[in-house]
Amino acid sequence: MNGDRREAMLRVKEEILNFKDSPLYAERVKNNVFPVIGEGSHTATIMFIGEAPGKNEAATGRPFCGASGKVLDELLASINIDRKNVYITNIVKDRPPMNRDPLPSEIEMYAPFLDRQIAIIQPKVVATLGRFSMRYIMEKFGLGNELQPISAIHGRVFETDAPYGKMRIVPLYHPAVALYGESRETLKKDFEVLKQFK
Ligand code: URA
Repeated sequence: MNGDRREAMLRVKEEILNFKDSPLYAERVKNNVFPVIGEGSHTATIMFIGEAPGKNEAATGRPFCGASGKVLDELLASINIDRKNVYITNIVKDRPPMNRDPLPSEIEMYAPFLDRQIAIIQPKVVATLGRFSMRYIMEKFGLGNELQPISAIHGRVFETDAPYGKMRIVPLYHPAVALYGESRETLKKDFEVLKQFK
């Protein structure tokens, strides 16, 4: 099973590497940087989904390896979750210029890759990081009517059905908010909810 998942993920990776239809592909080539496919266990119970790579991520091809990544690592450590036992990715796989928010058209273009990654990994829990992945994932899994501003639903557990079985969706603040004033304690408290799924 792991071999099949690895093969399927490699196919996703190849397609992202060759995703010339995306306007962000030209940026990738111009800046001599990488797309970020995702990282972690292909049999993870928990999958984290962020927005899009930042500067450090595009330079290395690894998700959450800059300042936000440091916060994410701290949050995972606070609940004793090993980064290698979860899967971490983003909706948009290439870096938007100047770290701007991803455009709706970019989310739409890249989302099929994320959909395939979810189908491969079959996580029991999808923890969204930030409002863009929250909206996309809640709508995709039939929870559009439960959508509210992230300030109202962060840290809540929503139950839904994925094609492969029961799934929980946990909207979380993006770790970068801790760099811009939101209390780290709020994020830590929200992460506590994931402990039960380890
Ligand atoms: N922010 C994201 O949303 N994803 C990353 O990989 C890094 C920063």
